Amino acid sequence: MLVLMSKVIALIDCNNFYVSCERLFNPSYIGKPVVVLSNNDGCVVSRSNESKLLGIPMGAPYFKFEEICRRHKIITHSSNYELYGDISQRVMATLEAFVPDMEVYSIDEAFVDLTGILDPLTFCIMLRRKVMLWTGIPVSIGISYTKTLAKAAGEVAKKSESGVGVLFNVEDIDITLKALSIYDVWGIGKQWGTRLELKFNIRTAYDLKQASPKFIREHFSVVMERIIYELNGIACLELEEIEAKKSISSTRTFGRSVSEIRELREAVASYTANAARKLRMQNSKVYSLYVYIRTDYYKNTTQYNNGKVVELVYPTSDTGLLINAAIKGLEAVYKSGFQYKKAGVILLNIVQDSYLQQDILEEYSHTHKKRSKALMQAVDLLNKKYGRGTIQHAAEGIKKEWKVKAELLSPRYSTRWDELKGVG
Ligand SMILES: [Mg+2]
Repeated sequence: MLVLMSKVIALIDCNNFYVSCERLFNPSYIGKPVVVLSNNDGCVVSRSNESKLLGIPMGAPYFKFEEICRRHKIITHSSNYELYGDISQRVMATLEAFVPDMEVYSIDEAFVDLTGILDPLTFCIMLRRKVMLWTGIPVSIGISYTKTLAKAAGEVAKKSESGVGVLFNVEDIDITLKALSIYDVWGIGKQWGTRLELKFNIRTAYDLKQASPKFIREHFSVVMERIIYELNGIACLELEEIEAKKSISSTRTFGRSVSEIRELREAVASYTANAARKLRMQNSKVYSLYVYIRTDYYKNTTQYNNGKVVELVYPTSDTGLLINAAIKGLEAVYKSGFQYKKAGVILLNIVQDSYLQQDILEEYSHTHKKRSKALMQAVDLLNKKYGRGTIQHAAEGIKKEWKVKAELLSPRYSTRWDELKGVG
């Protein structure tokens, strides 16, 4: 199949993100095995390379590996989402200063559109250095024509000296895809992977690339058909279609500065509603969220930047409950007298509905659960049918004067960065 060279997309992925954040404040951890555990269930959610080499699997329940951890003196931390949320925001702000168009994919990943940049490799090596210099966080960058290929290029990046992997010519793409197990292709979960392998003898990303899109659509889904196009260099995937995310970000820069808490409440409510919609789309619930506000890094005014993690009483995907929590967080960090330029909400600690333990679900009243589910389904349906925003929570506001202007931002090369130096 022909490779269309229409777009250039890079995926920026923070290496072992939570561990890297812990290392910022404990430089003695560098070079030593470290793991970070989730707060709720004590599973391993981030591993340093040294811990990976010792055989600690991702998602492993800690109690099963406690002995190994002790034996190898693995440094163990519980998650500090307040910290990770703040560092994430700084990483994203750094990227934002250099690329006009970016999409924050999760707490530690972002896609950027580099179409039109003359030398993407050199550009990304520079970008990686800037992120390291200003935030102390190491990142890998994969560059190619589509998001799926950029993700595969990220695998190349992790093994390369420069930390940047490029997949531009067909030979390189094919070599990489042949070495990539079908289970490691973005969006192919365990279930699909097993079926592809056992029933159709599709074992690598390359096998899938060669498969007939029509055949795959008939036997699987339209999403997997698009993955085939993406592997062939044709960009056609919406991010939300790809996979269930472990964190969901919803954040915007305001069209103008905002100082009133009333407007910030509306913006935060609106972002939360958007994140909650994505959460329900992937049949998940969330334990906690992080809400933050900040002034304009690029303006010579007094800066304020703060965020807060709010724990939910029980895991939920109910827009109303999430908005209440987000606003509680906002009110805790809001200070009057500042010109705010950006607010954001990150859903943390996401679990699939199917993984939720029954006893947790029973903690809250059955009636409420049912009513909330029916209401949320109705809201999603109407918004899908008549356009997003048809039905919304009153807290989101009607006029939305804070909304981003549909102007193309020009790259802000002459940026002031002194504020960022506090970290690392
Ligand atoms: Mg990462």
